[in-house]
Amino acid sequence: MNPFPSERLTALNQAPINPGADFVLYWMIAFRRARWNFSLQRAVDWACELGKPLLVLEALSCDYPWASERLHTFILEGMKNNGSDFRGLPVCYFPFVEGSRGQGKGLVRELASRSCMVVTDDYPCFFLPQMIRSVGKELPARMEAIDSNGLLPMAMANRVFQTAYSFRRYLQQQLPRFLDRLPKENPLRGVEIPRLKEIPVEIGAKWPAADTILDGLPGLPGNLPFERAVKPVKGTGGREEAEKRLADFLKNTLGRYHLDRNHPDAKATSNLSAYLHFGHLSVHQIFAGLTKFERWSPENLSAKASGKREGWWGMSPGGEAFLDQLVTWRELGFNMCSGRADYDRFDSLPDWAVETLRAREKDPRPYLYSLEEFEAARTHDPLWNAAQNQLLLEGQIHNYLRMLWGKKILEWTPSAREALQIMIELNNKYALDGRDPNSYTGILWVLGRYDRPFGPRRPIFGTVRYMSSRNTARKIKLAGYMRSYYGNRDMRS
Ligand SMILES: Cc1cc2nc3c(=O)[nH]c(=O)nc-3n(C[C@H](O)[C@H](O)[C@H](O)COP(=O)(O)OP(=O)(O)OC[C@H]3O[C@@H](n4cnc5c(N)ncnc54)[C@H](O)[C@@H]3O)c2cc1C
Repeated sequence: MNPFPSERLTALNQAPINPGADFVLYWMIAFRRARWNFSLQRAVDWACELGKPLLVLEALSCDYPWASERLHTFILEGMKNNGSDFRGLPVCYFPFVEGSRGQGKGLVRELASRSCMVVTDDYPCFFLPQMIRSVGKELPARMEAIDSNGLLPMAMANRVFQTAYSFRRYLQQQLPRFLDRLPKENPLRGVEIPRLKEIPVEIGAKWPAADTILDGLPGLPGNLPFERAVKPVKGTGGREEAEKRLADFLKNTLGRYHLDRNHPDAKATSNLSAYLHFGHLSVHQIFAGLTKFERWSPENLSAKASGKREGWWGMSPGGEAFLDQLVTWRELGFNMCSGRADYDRFDSLPDWAVETLRAREKDPRPYLYSLEEFEAARTHDPLWNAAQNQLLLEGQIHNYLRMLWGKKILEWTPSAREALQIMIELNNKYALDGRDPNSYTGILWVLGRYDRPFGPRRPIFGTVRYMSSRNTARKIKLAGYMRSYYGNRDMRS
């Protein structure tokens, strides 16, 4: 068996491997891609070791929290790409889409009963950790969860980090030995294993493959029982679109990323977060593309782990700034979610933030809005409404305005706990990249996570960092943004 990084592997049960069974099963639930995927690589290794075919099940239920036409369409577009990416390779790809609530029940168990062993994805957020743990307990076959989330395996971190600075410093000490251990670009290339020609007939009869649904994209069958009001956004999901965006970003935008990323009108960010979230693109592939573009090699790394944002990677200023978001900030969230089950709760905030927000709970609010008013972008503040409109229309908010968006929800809600619930609800319902460790990093940052106390002490915020729409509008370039998301009205009115 090929050596596999043990720090990326968790055994979910102690069931035996069944060498006489029909195939190895990869149950793809988070790293929804055919390339640069440690889980797929592990499943291929097992198939080679046992001389068995590989079956990849990518299933989509219809009643996960915040299920909608928007999220479904994006995921299905990725599944369509996966269908073509797996074509011609020694693997049987089984895309399954639930047509009614509960239709998928029993599918994994049934497939597992015919499997030598099962590999799945180890994603630390949303309902997935609980789901794989409970399935693992019941399965008759050995089940392994594989971490393909970040450059640093989640299990490596020795604690839950409280600041980006301390995590960055830790990364600078640990990462050098992981940078040449990326997953294979195409783990099925050149592999010789028997091929399962089709999904077992009885299984296909009860749980038909989603070929017709995938062929019908971008339309969705009318009978899928979920939220129809949250419409698909312009642009498609999937590996192909993600790779196009990555190539375009490297060629045309990376050079000014460090200068322009805070300015909505400059359109200087990668717009890759949704693809990262659904696993259509891996951080490893982005890293490999970036290092090639920068003609970078590990010798460029600085020997000093100072925790500073710039200078450690030995790349261009744009490359350094981008990696600080993509690796430091992104993996900080994975560190939190894998280390604390209460990562989405108010009480998980640092003590100083809990205390200061509690102390200001009774302060009068200048404005109070309900969830419905926030949702409909009906506040008095044009800039806030513009940000919410972008979320409604495009499934994302520019990062700088996302901070302001959250701060104002805190200011215009009866308590910080309610603000937290409203942010989670709106972000996870409308943002394509929601329901992600980054979602909780961003939302709880609004309330003080990873931040420090700021004076002077203010009403409602206490010493939690304050932001105003007026100052934001002064600091960043957003005339075009306002035209796009708020018509031509003056945002300071
Ligand atoms: C209130 C609030 C909610 C947020 N919710 C989400 C969310 O649901 N999902 C999400 O992916 N991000 C979230 N963020 C972080 C950030 O806004 C987005 O990651 C970023 O805007 C995505 O755009 P991009 O891909 O063009 O980013 P780029 O600037 O191109 O960055 C590249 C990648 O780095 C990561 N990244 C960038 N900024 C951050 C950040 N501040 N924190 C953590 N990782 C970051 C993302 O994976 C991003 O795709 C939130 C921030 C705030 C303040």
